[in-house]
Amino acid sequence: MSIVTNKELLDRAKAGHYAVAAFNTNNLEYTQAILTAASELRAPVIVAAAKSEVDYMDGYVFVSMVTCLADKFGIPVGIHLDHGPTFEETIRCLHYGFKSVMYDGSFLPLEENIAVTKEVVKAAHACGVSVEGEVGVIGQAADGPEGRRHDMTGLADPDECERFVAETGVDCFAAAIGNAHGLYKRKPELRFDILAELEKRTSIPLVLHGGTGIPEGDLRKAITMGVSKINFSTVMRKGYIETLTATLNGSPGELDLMKLLSPGKDRMIEIAKEHIVMCMSDRKA
Ligand SMILES: [Zn+2]
Repeated sequence: MSIVTNKELLDRAKAGHYAVAAFNTNNLEYTQAILTAASELRAPVIVAAAKSEVDYMDGYVFVSMVTCLADKFGIPVGIHLDHGPTFEETIRCLHYGFKSVMYDGSFLPLEENIAVTKEVVKAAHACGVSVEGEVGVIGQAADGPEGRRHDMTGLADPDECERFVAETGVDCFAAAIGNAHGLYKRKPELRFDILAELEKRTSIPLVLHGGTGIPEGDLRKAITMGVSKINFSTVMRKGYIETLTATLNGSPGELDLMKLLSPGKDRMIEIAKEHIVMCMSDRKA
């Protein structure tokens, strides 16, 4: 079976001192690019979709598409919900066949975040599905689709993280350590002091969101300090859209959609490969 839980993928990554790259997707070309890249590098990989992306593709179609491609390539693949916004939206993905879900209660007071995350863990674990939680709001580097703004006051508090992990039973968790979603306006400064504290106080794999634009040296340092999953979304979309724009501008009158979309897919394969290598997960499948 090529589809595995994030717990299996991340526990192995933590023990092996690498991180599994998680890429969001929202269509066929995108998904093919992620799995082709992972297959060529023999890397385990996570294909993720946020709620808007799940709605766009249809949850059943998304899971079937990833499962078919994972079977074809024969590499371990996770199917993950990114930033589940509510208990209901998160649990619905168990029905679609996701093997991992994130519930993001980071906007709630800690007590409420713990209470809802605990319920998600109870239901998901009963179905053999892994859960990722979030503590401390990971904001948006620039105005983004979720309307979040980068806000340094969102840094995770190690005391809260320790309590959150112990009380909820999550399999991995994302903490705000100076990272943000979208394109960074200036070089991000990761708080390695907080990361060291989190690694000391929790034994589970850590997840770094907003991987786009974090320098490779910082990513590798974070991996040596316990980060076992790194999310990349913006960098892939940017590469796809730039290539698609150039292709459209260079092909006036072209009506073969496959010819127009293929160069963007090829560009995404290159980008995914670069980021898998940064995560040091190549040849780990
Ligand atoms: Zn995120």
